[in-house]
Amino acid sequence: MDSPLFDPAAFRLTEQEARLTALAREFGQAVLAPRAARWDREASFPTENYRDMHGNGLLGIGIPAAEGGLGAGFRAYCLTAAELGRYCGATALTWNMHVCSTLWSGPLTEDLDMPEAVRVEHRRRRRLHYDRILRDGAVFSQPFSEGGAAAAGGAAFGTTAQRVPGGWRISGRKIFASLAGHADYYGILCTEAREGEDRLSRRDTLYLAVPREAPGVSVEGEWDPLGMRGTVSRNLVFRDVVVGEDAALMPPGLYFQAASRWPHMFLTLSPTYMGLAQAAYDFTIAYLRGEYPGTPPVKRRMYPTKQIAVAEMRVMLEQTKALWFQAITEAGPDPTKEQVLRAWAAQHSVMENAAAIAAKAVRTCGGQAMLKSLPLERIYRDARCGSLMLPWTAELCIDRIGREALYDKGETD
Ligand SMILES: Cc1cc2nc3c(=O)[nH]c(=O)nc-3n(C[C@H](O)[C@H](O)[C@H](O)COP(=O)(O)OP(=O)(O)OC[C@H]3O[C@@H](n4cnc5c(N)ncnc54)[C@H](O)[C@@H]3O)c2cc1C
Repeated sequence: MDSPLFDPAAFRLTEQEARLTALAREFGQAVLAPRAARWDREASFPTENYRDMHGNGLLGIGIPAAEGGLGAGFRAYCLTAAELGRYCGATALTWNMHVCSTLWSGPLTEDLDMPEAVRVEHRRRRRLHYDRILRDGAVFSQPFSEGGAAAAGGAAFGTTAQRVPGGWRISGRKIFASLAGHADYYGILCTEAREGEDRLSRRDTLYLAVPREAPGVSVEGEWDPLGMRGTVSRNLVFRDVVVGEDAALMPPGLYFQAASRWPHMFLTLSPTYMGLAQAAYDFTIAYLRGEYPGTPPVKRRMYPTKQIAVAEMRVMLEQTKALWFQAITEAGPDPTKEQVLRAWAAQHSVMENAAAIAAKAVRTCGGQAMLKSLPLERIYRDARCGSLMLPWTAELCIDRIGREALYDKGETD
């Protein structure tokens, strides 16, 4: 079995983290890795992997233990997801969308303020969603993006929900909706459209689970991208889709509070790419030693230029891991400005460095290493996608770090 990405003793992982990461590594190596090329080649969704993750409990990793899940907290989840990312980027990334529906409605909402009666009702509702996952293996997705400023956090979502007796009527369109046509529920972010009010407000963001088969839901568009091909991130259209009150994954107003008070929630897209960075490095070591399975036993490690490249990759990998580990360790409600700056720096580093390490791996290993019979070229293409993930794209992280580092709250020029 591969070595742990974060050695439990060296990084002082909890017993639960050591257990979950070992499970993910074993599962990733034995089950995800051999199948990964197929999803990539076909741009098809890894349904079999999800069936297996229902079987081994990983679908319920973010569900509190008292409610039947594995009860992982934020860091335990991130570490586990990074292990999966080493073996199949598309599975790890789509699994992230699924797990967020439970992490955000579970441990994260426990840190937020709401009246006691609202909390009781929220726990009752989330239980319905959790039961579907644990009992039926239901899979949730997380379509936010609409092609404008909303997913970047700069405007209200244009997808709207109007109150109707007993529930909501939803209309709108989401782009890049990973798991489109494959998730059982689309956990969409939309804005409550109030009677008689023209303007939509981010404060009125709702987080609703829409059943795939609900009348008015359709999947549109082609899917033939550079990387992360198994995510099947096509467009989703909602035309007067009616869902009940129990569709709420968070009470009204809570998502806005979460985004403001628990910003590390947006760091959850990074673990997959942390895993891909490790995978590119691991491949390079094995390949240059002439030990990668399925390749001729030709050693290339004796060339100084290759040794320098490996050293540079290792330095970048260690820097990335250290910063990311710190950021996921300090995630929590009401972080300080320093902690938020660090979270953006961690996200930026993981996303950009995963792509840089993978690019250097291709250059260093040489021509035969980029054949499609080997995983490196897929890792390279998948890794390139990380910087594009809203709301914390690599560009937006730089934008925010620069501004927030120079200005305190309320300051202008
Ligand atoms: C493999 C993959 C899977 C994905 N899965 C999902 C998913 O499951 N759910 C989901 O919601 N999304 C998903 N996304 C979408 C992703 O998060 C982005 O929303 C998407 O890549 C944006 O594409 P775009 O061309 O609209 O980007 P851009 O045009 O770069 O960004 C869209 C908008 O964001 C704002 N913006 C962008 N950059 C800046 C900037 N520097 N400063 C200020 N504003 C800026 C602008 O308003 C811009 O119009 C996925 C993307 C990929 C690549």
